[in-house]
Amino acid sequence: MSMIETKLPRPRSANETKSVYIATFGCQMNKADSENMLGLLHEIGYQHTEDLKDADLMILNTCAIRENAEDKVYSYLGAWNKIKKKRPGAKIAVGGCVAQDEGEKLIKRLPYVDIVFGTHNLFRLPELVTRAEQTGEHVVEVFQELPEDLPELPVIRQSDFSAWVSVIYGCDYNCTYCIVPYVRGRERSRTPDELMKEVKELADLGFKEVTLLGQNVTAYGHDLDPPKHLGDLIELVGELDSIKRIKFLTGHPRDLQPEIIDSVKRTPTACEYFHIPIQAGDDRTLRRMARGYTVDFYRKKIDQIRSRIPDAAITSDLIVGFPGETEDEFLNTVRLVEEICFDGCNTAAYSPRPHTPSASWPDQVPEDEKYERLRLLNTVVSEVCHRRNKRYLGSTVELLVEGVSQRNDERLMGRTRTNKVVHFEGDLSLKGQLVDVQVEAANPWALRGSLVNRS
Ligand code: SF4
Repeated sequence: MSMIETKLPRPRSANETKSVYIATFGCQMNKADSENMLGLLHEIGYQHTEDLKDADLMILNTCAIRENAEDKVYSYLGAWNKIKKKRPGAKIAVGGCVAQDEGEKLIKRLPYVDIVFGTHNLFRLPELVTRAEQTGEHVVEVFQELPEDLPELPVIRQSDFSAWVSVIYGCDYNCTYCIVPYVRGRERSRTPDELMKEVKELADLGFKEVTLLGQNVTAYGHDLDPPKHLGDLIELVGELDSIKRIKFLTGHPRDLQPEIIDSVKRTPTACEYFHIPIQAGDDRTLRRMARGYTVDFYRKKIDQIRSRIPDAAITSDLIVGFPGETEDEFLNTVRLVEEICFDGCNTAAYSPRPHTPSASWPDQVPEDEKYERLRLLNTVVSEVCHRRNKRYLGSTVELLVEGVSQRNDERLMGRTRTNKVVHFEGDLSLKGQLVDVQVEAANPWALRGSLVNRS
Protein backbone atom coordinates (compact mmCIF):
# COMPACT_ATOMS: atom_id res chain seq x y z
CA MET A 1 0.00 0.00 0.00
CA SER A 2 1.45 3.37 -0.92
CA MET A 3 1.74 6.20 1.63
CA ILE A 4 -0.95 8.10 -0.11
CA GLU A 5 -3.51 5.36 0.33
CA THR A 6 -2.97 4.72 4.03
CA LYS A 7 -5.88 5.62 6.31
CA LEU A 8 -3.62 6.30 9.32
CA PRO A 9 -2.81 9.91 10.25
CA ARG A 10 0.39 11.01 8.63
CA PRO A 11 3.14 10.94 11.31
CA ARG A 12 4.54 14.38 12.00
CA SER A 13 7.60 15.15 14.06
CA ALA A 14 7.39 18.03 16.53
CA ASN A 15 9.42 20.39 14.40
CA GLU A 16 7.99 19.40 11.02
CA THR A 17 6.42 22.39 9.34
CA LYS A 18 2.88 22.12 8.11
CA SER A 19 1.79 23.45 4.79
CA VAL A 20 -1.18 25.52 3.76
CA TYR A 21 -2.67 25.95 0.32
CA ILE A 22 -5.02 28.88 -0.30
CA ALA A 23 -7.33 29.33 -3.28
CA THR A 24 -8.76 32.81 -3.52
CA PHE A 25 -11.88 33.83 -5.42
CA GLY A 26 -13.14 37.33 -6.02
CA CYS A 27 -11.75 40.80 -5.59
CA GLN A 28 -8.41 42.23 -4.51
CA MET A 29 -9.77 42.60 -0.97
CA ASN A 30 -10.04 38.82 -0.82
CA LYS A 31 -6.51 38.46 -2.20
CA ALA A 32 -5.26 40.84 0.49
CA ASP A 33 -7.14 38.80 3.13
CA SER A 34 -5.43 35.64 1.85
CA GLU A 35 -2.04 37.27 2.37
CA ASN A 36 -3.08 38.00 5.96
CA MET A 37 -4.16 34.37 6.39
CA LEU A 38 -0.69 33.26 5.30
CA GLY A 39 0.87 35.69 7.77
CA LEU A 40 -1.35 34.51 10.62
CA LEU A 41 -0.79 30.82 9.92
CA HIS A 42 2.96 31.32 9.63
CA GLU A 43 2.86 32.24 13.32
CA ILE A 44 1.68 28.71 14.16
CA GLY A 45 4.17 27.01 11.88
CA TYR A 46 2.44 26.83 8.51
CA GLN A 47 4.36 27.38 5.29
CA HIS A 48 2.66 28.31 2.05
CA THR A 49 2.54 25.61 -0.63
CA GLU A 50 1.36 26.00 -4.19
CA ASP A 51 0.76 22.26 -4.48
CA LEU A 52 -2.67 21.32 -3.22
CA LYS A 53 -1.75 17.66 -2.84
CA ASP A 54 0.98 18.64 -0.39
CA ALA A 55 -1.25 20.67 1.88
CA ASP A 56 -2.05 19.85 5.50
CA LEU A 57 -4.55 22.68 5.42
CA MET A 58 -6.56 23.71 2.35
CA ILE A 59 -8.30 27.07 2.59
CA LEU A 60 -10.90 28.33 0.18
CA ASN A 61 -11.31 32.09 0.45
CA THR A 62 -14.69 32.54 -1.16
CA CYS A 63 -16.63 35.22 -3.02
CA ALA A 64 -20.42 35.53 -3.01
CA ILE A 65 -20.80 38.45 -5.36
CA ARG A 66 -22.11 36.35 -8.25
CA GLU A 67 -23.96 33.09 -8.33
CA ASN A 68 -21.39 31.37 -10.53
CA ALA A 69 -18.60 32.34 -8.10
CA GLU A 70 -20.58 30.61 -5.36
CA ASP A 71 -21.24 27.52 -7.51
CA LYS A 72 -17.48 27.32 -8.13
CA VAL A 73 -16.96 27.12 -4.36
CA TYR A 74 -19.00 23.93 -4.12
CA SER A 75 -17.33 22.30 -7.08
CA TYR A 76 -13.85 23.14 -5.68
CA LEU A 77 -14.73 21.74 -2.28
CA GLY A 78 -16.02 18.50 -3.82
CA ALA A 79 -12.67 18.05 -5.59
CA TRP A 80 -10.75 18.90 -2.42
CA ASN A 81 -12.65 16.27 -0.48
CA LYS A 82 -11.25 13.61 -2.82
CA ILE A 83 -7.72 14.87 -2.07
CA LYS A 84 -8.47 15.01 1.66
CA LYS A 85 -9.52 11.36 1.65
CA LYS A 86 -6.11 10.41 0.31
CA ARG A 87 -4.28 12.54 2.86
CA PRO A 88 -5.52 11.63 6.34
CA GLY A 89 -5.15 14.43 8.84
CA ALA A 90 -5.52 17.14 6.21
CA LYS A 91 -8.13 19.79 6.97
CA ILE A 92 -10.37 21.93 4.79
CA ALA A 93 -11.25 25.47 5.88
CA VAL A 94 -13.64 27.87 4.19
CA GLY A 95 -13.44 31.62 4.72
CA GLY A 96 -14.58 34.75 2.88
CA CYS A 97 -18.04 35.97 1.91
CA VAL A 98 -19.77 32.59 1.33
CA ALA A 99 -18.55 31.40 4.74
CA GLN A 100 -19.71 34.63 6.37
CA ASP A 101 -23.15 34.15 4.86
CA GLU A 102 -23.58 30.38 5.24
CA GLY A 103 -21.76 29.72 8.55
CA GLU A 104 -22.96 26.48 10.16
CA LYS A 105 -25.07 25.61 7.10
CA LEU A 106 -21.88 24.98 5.13
CA ILE A 107 -20.84 22.19 7.47
CA LYS A 108 -24.34 20.69 7.41
CA ARG A 109 -24.20 20.62 3.63
CA LEU A 110 -20.54 19.57 3.35
CA PRO A 111 -19.59 17.66 6.53
CA TYR A 112 -16.07 17.07 5.26
CA VAL A 113 -15.32 20.80 5.72
CA ASP A 114 -13.50 21.18 9.07
CA ILE A 115 -13.37 24.92 9.68
CA VAL A 116 -15.66 27.80 8.69
CA PHE A 117 -14.62 31.35 9.51
CA GLY A 118 -16.12 34.66 8.45
CA THR A 119 -14.80 37.92 7.05
CA HIS A 120 -14.80 39.68 10.45
CA ASN A 121 -12.77 37.17 12.47
CA LEU A 122 -9.82 36.49 10.20
CA PHE A 123 -7.50 37.35 13.08
CA ARG A 124 -8.80 34.29 14.99
CA LEU A 125 -7.71 31.84 12.27
CA PRO A 126 -4.68 30.40 14.14
CA GLU A 127 -6.85 29.61 17.13
CA LEU A 128 -9.60 28.03 15.03
CA VAL A 129 -7.11 25.87 13.12
CA THR A 130 -5.39 24.77 16.34
CA ARG A 131 -8.73 23.88 17.88
CA ALA A 132 -9.73 21.79 14.86
CA GLU A 133 -6.34 20.02 14.93
CA GLN A 134 -6.54 19.27 18.64
CA THR A 135 -10.16 18.16 18.85
CA GLY A 136 -10.70 16.74 15.37
CA GLU A 137 -14.13 18.38 15.49
CA HIS A 138 -15.81 20.92 13.26
CA VAL A 139 -15.04 24.52 14.16
CA VAL A 140 -17.42 27.26 13.00
CA GLU A 141 -17.00 30.88 14.01
CA VAL A 142 -18.57 33.84 12.25
CA PHE A 143 -18.71 37.33 13.78
CA GLN A 144 -21.52 39.63 12.72
CA GLU A 145 -19.28 42.73 12.93
CA LEU A 146 -15.62 43.69 12.95
CA PRO A 147 -14.49 44.07 16.56
CA GLU A 148 -13.80 47.62 17.77
CA ASP A 149 -10.14 46.95 18.59
CA LEU A 150 -9.18 45.11 15.42
CA PRO A 151 -5.60 43.87 15.86
CA GLU A 152 -2.94 44.52 13.21
CA LEU A 153 -2.64 41.41 11.10
CA PRO A 154 0.63 39.84 10.00
CA VAL A 155 0.99 39.41 6.26
CA ILE A 156 2.98 37.27 3.83
CA ARG A 157 2.78 38.97 0.47
CA GLN A 158 2.76 37.12 -2.82
CA SER A 159 4.77 39.82 -4.59
CA ASP A 160 7.93 41.58 -3.48
CA PHE A 161 7.38 44.71 -5.56
CA SER A 162 3.63 45.41 -5.55
CA ALA A 163 1.46 45.35 -2.43
CA TRP A 164 -2.22 45.66 -1.62
CA VAL A 165 -3.03 47.66 1.46
CA SER A 166 -6.59 47.53 2.79
CA VAL A 167 -7.49 51.02 3.99
CA ILE A 168 -11.24 50.74 4.60
CA TYR A 169 -13.45 47.72 5.23
CA GLY A 170 -17.14 47.29 4.45
CA CYS A 171 -19.63 49.47 2.60
CA ASP A 172 -22.35 51.87 3.78
CA TYR A 173 -24.34 51.74 0.53
CA ASN A 174 -27.19 49.32 0.05
CA CYS A 175 -27.28 48.67 -3.67
CA THR A 176 -30.30 46.45 -4.16
CA TYR A 177 -28.32 43.68 -5.92
CA CYS A 178 -25.25 43.55 -3.70
CA ILE A 179 -24.43 41.15 -0.89
CA VAL A 180 -21.26 43.01 0.18
CA PRO A 181 -22.85 45.15 2.95
CA TYR A 182 -24.38 41.96 4.36
CA VAL A 183 -21.12 39.99 4.45
CA ARG A 184 -18.60 42.81 4.99
CA GLY A 185 -20.54 45.16 7.27
CA ARG A 186 -20.35 48.93 7.54
CA GLU A 187 -17.45 51.14 6.48
CA ARG A 188 -14.53 51.23 8.86
CA SER A 189 -11.33 53.14 7.98
CA ARG A 190 -7.90 52.33 9.31
CA THR A 191 -6.07 55.31 10.77
CA PRO A 192 -3.43 57.12 8.70
CA ASP A 193 -0.82 56.32 11.40
CA GLU A 194 -1.48 52.60 11.19
CA LEU A 195 -1.52 52.68 7.40
CA MET A 196 1.64 54.74 7.05
CA LYS A 197 3.49 52.38 9.38
CA GLU A 198 2.58 49.54 7.00
CA VAL A 199 3.43 51.50 3.86
CA LYS A 200 6.80 52.69 5.28
CA GLU A 201 7.69 49.07 6.00
CA LEU A 202 6.84 48.23 2.39
CA ALA A 203 9.02 51.11 1.19
CA ASP A 204 11.92 49.87 3.35
CA LEU A 205 11.50 46.39 1.87
CA GLY A 206 11.84 47.78 -1.65
CA PHE A 207 8.20 47.62 -2.79
CA LYS A 208 7.61 49.96 -5.72
CA GLU A 209 3.82 49.96 -5.94
CA VAL A 210 1.00 50.08 -3.42
CA THR A 211 -2.68 49.74 -4.21
CA LEU A 212 -4.97 51.20 -1.56
CA LEU A 213 -7.96 48.89 -1.26
CA GLY A 214 -11.53 49.06 -0.07
CA GLN A 215 -14.96 47.89 -1.14
CA ASN A 216 -15.55 51.63 -1.34
CA VAL A 217 -12.07 53.08 -1.11
CA THR A 218 -13.25 56.56 -2.13
CA ALA A 219 -15.15 56.78 1.18
CA TYR A 220 -11.87 56.43 3.09
CA GLY A 221 -11.61 58.51 6.23
CA HIS A 222 -15.13 59.96 6.60
CA ASP A 223 -15.55 57.95 9.82
CA LEU A 224 -12.24 59.07 11.38
CA ASP A 225 -11.88 61.80 13.97
CA PRO A 226 -10.93 64.25 12.55
CA PRO A 227 -12.31 63.10 9.17
CA LYS A 228 -9.86 62.50 6.30
CA HIS A 229 -10.28 61.79 2.62
CA LEU A 230 -8.52 59.41 0.30
CA GLY A 231 -6.55 62.27 -1.25
CA ASP A 232 -4.90 62.98 2.13
CA LEU A 233 -3.70 59.40 2.24
CA ILE A 234 -2.50 59.43 -1.38
CA GLU A 235 -0.44 62.55 -0.66
CA LEU A 236 1.04 61.03 2.50
CA VAL A 237 2.12 57.90 0.62
CA GLY A 238 3.39 60.17 -2.16
CA GLU A 239 6.00 61.56 0.25
CA LEU A 240 7.82 58.21 0.28
CA ASP A 241 10.44 58.39 -2.46
CA SER A 242 10.86 54.68 -2.96
CA ILE A 243 7.16 54.03 -3.61
CA LYS A 244 6.96 54.80 -7.32
CA ARG A 245 3.30 54.06 -7.95
CA ILE A 246 0.11 54.57 -5.95
CA LYS A 247 -3.21 53.15 -7.13
CA PHE A 248 -6.61 52.76 -5.46
CA LEU A 249 -9.52 50.37 -5.94
CA THR A 250 -12.52 50.43 -6.05
CA GLY A 251 -14.58 53.57 -5.80
CA HIS A 252 -18.15 54.83 -5.77
CA PRO A 253 -18.94 57.79 -8.06
CA ARG A 254 -20.65 59.72 -5.25
CA ASP A 255 -17.55 59.60 -3.07
CA LEU A 256 -15.04 60.51 -5.74
CA GLN A 257 -14.74 64.12 -4.60
CA PRO A 258 -12.77 66.65 -6.70
CA GLU A 259 -10.28 66.86 -3.77
CA ILE A 260 -9.30 63.24 -4.40
CA ILE A 261 -8.77 63.86 -8.12
CA ASP A 262 -6.74 66.98 -7.26
CA SER A 263 -4.53 64.93 -4.92
CA VAL A 264 -3.91 62.38 -7.69
CA LYS A 265 -2.94 65.22 -10.01
CA ARG A 266 -0.66 66.84 -7.41
CA THR A 267 1.11 63.61 -6.44
CA PRO A 268 3.62 62.55 -9.09
CA THR A 269 3.57 58.91 -8.01
CA ALA A 270 -0.24 58.63 -7.98
CA CYS A 271 -1.25 56.78 -11.13
CA GLU A 272 -3.61 58.25 -13.72
CA TYR A 273 -6.04 55.40 -13.31
CA PHE A 274 -9.63 55.53 -12.01
CA HIS A 275 -11.87 52.49 -11.64
CA ILE A 276 -15.30 54.05 -11.12
CA PRO A 277 -18.17 51.56 -11.43
CA ILE A 278 -21.33 52.98 -13.01
CA GLN A 279 -23.20 49.61 -13.25
CA ALA A 280 -25.84 50.89 -15.72
CA GLY A 281 -26.23 53.78 -18.15
CA ASP A 282 -29.91 54.34 -17.51
CA ASP A 283 -31.47 56.50 -14.80
CA ARG A 284 -34.45 54.27 -14.00
CA THR A 285 -32.17 51.23 -13.66
CA LEU A 286 -29.73 53.19 -11.48
CA ARG A 287 -32.61 54.28 -9.26
CA ARG A 288 -33.83 50.70 -8.90
CA MET A 289 -30.28 49.62 -8.14
CA ALA A 290 -30.24 52.33 -5.41
CA ARG A 291 -26.90 53.59 -6.68
CA GLY A 292 -27.64 57.13 -5.51
CA TYR A 293 -26.68 59.03 -8.69
CA THR A 294 -27.89 59.68 -12.21
CA VAL A 295 -26.11 59.15 -15.51
CA ASP A 296 -25.61 62.89 -15.74
CA PHE A 297 -23.97 62.99 -12.31
CA TYR A 298 -21.59 60.26 -13.48
CA ARG A 299 -20.82 62.17 -16.70
CA LYS A 300 -19.83 65.17 -14.56
CA LYS A 301 -17.45 62.98 -12.55
CA ILE A 302 -15.81 61.80 -15.75
CA ASP A 303 -15.49 65.45 -16.85
CA GLN A 304 -13.91 66.31 -13.49
CA ILE A 305 -11.30 63.60 -14.04
CA ARG A 306 -10.62 64.33 -17.70
CA SER A 307 -10.48 68.12 -17.26
CA ARG A 308 -7.81 67.70 -14.58
CA ILE A 309 -5.95 64.65 -15.90
CA PRO A 310 -6.62 64.36 -19.64
CA ASP A 311 -4.64 61.13 -20.09
CA ALA A 312 -6.32 59.28 -17.24
CA ALA A 313 -7.58 55.78 -17.94
CA ILE A 314 -11.11 55.23 -16.68
CA THR A 315 -12.59 51.77 -16.21
CA SER A 316 -15.95 50.66 -14.91
CA ASP A 317 -18.22 47.78 -13.89
CA LEU A 318 -21.49 47.09 -15.71
CA ILE A 319 -24.40 44.78 -14.96
CA VAL A 320 -26.87 43.79 -17.69
CA GLY A 321 -30.28 42.21 -17.25
CA PHE A 322 -31.02 43.83 -13.89
CA PRO A 323 -34.64 42.97 -12.92
CA GLY A 324 -37.06 45.09 -14.90
CA GLU A 325 -34.38 46.39 -17.30
CA THR A 326 -36.08 46.94 -20.68
CA GLU A 327 -34.35 46.57 -24.03
CA ASP A 328 -34.29 50.34 -24.38
CA GLU A 329 -32.79 50.84 -20.92
CA PHE A 330 -30.14 48.30 -21.74
CA LEU A 331 -29.36 50.18 -24.96
CA ASN A 332 -28.85 53.33 -22.87
CA THR A 333 -25.99 51.47 -21.16
CA VAL A 334 -24.52 50.53 -24.53
CA ARG A 335 -24.79 54.15 -25.70
CA LEU A 336 -23.10 55.41 -22.55
CA VAL A 337 -20.16 53.02 -23.03
CA GLU A 338 -19.68 54.46 -26.52
CA GLU A 339 -20.02 58.03 -25.26
CA ILE A 340 -17.61 57.73 -22.32
CA CYS A 341 -15.22 55.48 -24.25
CA PHE A 342 -14.00 53.54 -21.24
CA ASP A 343 -10.53 52.02 -21.11
CA GLY A 344 -11.97 48.77 -19.81
CA CYS A 345 -15.15 47.39 -18.27
CA ASN A 346 -15.91 44.39 -16.12
CA THR A 347 -19.25 43.22 -17.45
CA ALA A 348 -21.61 40.68 -15.92
CA ALA A 349 -25.12 39.37 -16.35
CA TYR A 350 -27.18 40.11 -13.24
CA SER A 351 -27.35 37.18 -10.84
CA PRO A 352 -29.74 37.24 -7.88
CA ARG A 353 -27.95 37.02 -4.54
CA PRO A 354 -29.42 35.98 -1.20
CA HIS A 355 -30.26 38.77 1.30
CA THR A 356 -30.61 41.33 -1.52
CA PRO A 357 -33.94 43.02 -2.35
CA SER A 358 -33.72 42.62 -6.12
CA ALA A 359 -33.37 38.83 -5.87
CA SER A 360 -37.07 38.50 -5.08
CA TRP A 361 -38.40 41.07 -7.54
CA PRO A 362 -40.90 39.51 -9.91
CA ASP A 363 -39.61 41.09 -13.14
CA GLN A 364 -36.43 39.01 -13.56
CA VAL A 365 -34.99 39.14 -17.08
CA PRO A 366 -34.88 35.68 -18.74
CA GLU A 367 -31.40 34.11 -18.76
CA ASP A 368 -31.10 33.90 -22.56
CA GLU A 369 -32.03 37.58 -22.85
CA LYS A 370 -29.41 38.54 -20.23
CA TYR A 371 -26.70 36.64 -22.07
CA GLU A 372 -27.74 38.12 -25.44
CA ARG A 373 -27.41 41.62 -23.89
CA LEU A 374 -24.07 40.70 -22.35
CA ARG A 375 -22.79 39.48 -25.72
CA LEU A 376 -23.77 42.76 -27.41
CA LEU A 377 -22.34 44.88 -24.61
CA ASN A 378 -19.05 42.97 -24.68
CA THR A 379 -18.74 43.60 -28.41
CA VAL A 380 -19.16 47.33 -27.89
CA VAL A 381 -16.84 47.40 -24.86
CA SER A 382 -14.21 45.61 -26.88
CA GLU A 383 -14.53 48.16 -29.73
CA VAL A 384 -14.20 51.19 -27.48
CA CYS A 385 -11.30 49.68 -25.53
CA HIS A 386 -9.52 48.95 -28.80
CA ARG A 387 -10.03 52.59 -29.79
CA ARG A 388 -8.63 53.75 -26.45
CA ASN A 389 -5.65 51.40 -26.66
CA LYS A 390 -4.71 52.58 -30.15
CA ARG A 391 -3.90 56.03 -28.75
CA TYR A 392 -0.77 54.48 -27.21
CA LEU A 393 0.64 53.38 -30.60
CA GLY A 394 4.10 54.82 -31.16
CA SER A 395 4.38 56.23 -27.64
CA THR A 396 6.84 55.17 -24.96
CA VAL A 397 5.26 54.00 -21.72
CA GLU A 398 6.72 53.13 -18.34
CA LEU A 399 5.93 49.58 -17.18
CA LEU A 400 6.21 47.83 -13.88
CA VAL A 401 7.22 44.34 -15.00
CA GLU A 402 5.07 41.65 -13.40
CA GLY A 403 6.65 38.52 -14.91
CA VAL A 404 6.16 36.12 -17.77
CA SER A 405 3.18 36.71 -20.03
CA GLN A 406 0.45 34.13 -19.50
CA ARG A 407 -0.42 34.21 -23.18
CA ASN A 408 3.10 33.70 -24.51
CA ASP A 409 5.80 32.47 -22.18
CA GLU A 410 8.53 33.88 -24.40
CA ARG A 411 7.36 37.36 -23.50
CA LEU A 412 7.16 39.38 -20.33
CA MET A 413 4.18 41.42 -19.24
CA GLY A 414 3.94 44.60 -17.26
CA ARG A 415 1.46 47.37 -16.56
CA THR A 416 1.51 51.04 -17.42
CA ARG A 417 0.63 53.67 -14.84
CA THR A 418 -2.83 53.60 -16.44
CA ASN A 419 -3.08 49.86 -15.71
CA LYS A 420 -2.75 48.77 -19.36
CA VAL A 421 -1.22 45.34 -19.83
CA VAL A 422 1.79 45.42 -22.18
CA HIS A 423 3.62 42.36 -23.57
CA PHE A 424 7.25 42.64 -24.69
CA GLU A 425 10.39 40.58 -25.10
CA GLY A 426 12.86 40.77 -22.27
CA ASP A 427 14.78 38.95 -19.59
CA LEU A 428 12.96 37.67 -16.50
CA SER A 429 15.52 39.50 -14.36
CA LEU A 430 13.44 42.60 -15.16
CA LYS A 431 10.59 41.32 -12.99
CA GLY A 432 9.72 43.96 -10.42
CA GLN A 433 11.61 46.68 -12.34
CA LEU A 434 10.36 49.82 -14.03
CA VAL A 435 11.21 49.81 -17.73
CA ASP A 436 10.30 51.85 -20.79
CA VAL A 437 8.59 50.18 -23.72
CA GLN A 438 7.64 51.60 -27.09
CA VAL A 439 4.13 50.50 -28.05
CA GLU A 440 3.90 48.85 -31.49
CA ALA A 441 0.54 47.09 -31.48
CA ALA A 442 -2.76 47.36 -29.67
CA ASN A 443 -5.74 45.07 -29.29
CA PRO A 444 -8.81 45.64 -27.08
CA TRP A 445 -7.26 44.05 -24.01
CA ALA A 446 -3.52 44.68 -24.21
CA LEU A 447 -0.61 46.36 -25.94
CA ARG A 448 2.61 44.97 -27.38
CA GLY A 449 5.92 46.77 -27.61
CA SER A 450 9.72 46.75 -27.50
CA LEU A 451 12.03 47.59 -24.68
CA VAL A 452 13.66 51.02 -24.86
CA ASN A 453 16.98 51.44 -23.09
CA ARG A 454 16.83 53.95 -20.27
CA SER A 455 19.67 56.46 -20.54
S1 SF4 B 1 -21.28 50.44 -3.36
FE1 SF4 B 1 -23.03 49.08 -3.79
S2 SF4 B 1 -22.13 47.55 -5.19
FE2 SF4 B 1 -20.42 48.55 -4.18
S3 SF4 B 1 -19.95 47.25 -2.40
FE3 SF4 B 1 -21.34 48.89 -1.70
S4 SF4 B 1 -23.38 48.01 -1.86
FE4 SF4 B 1 -22.02 46.71 -3.10
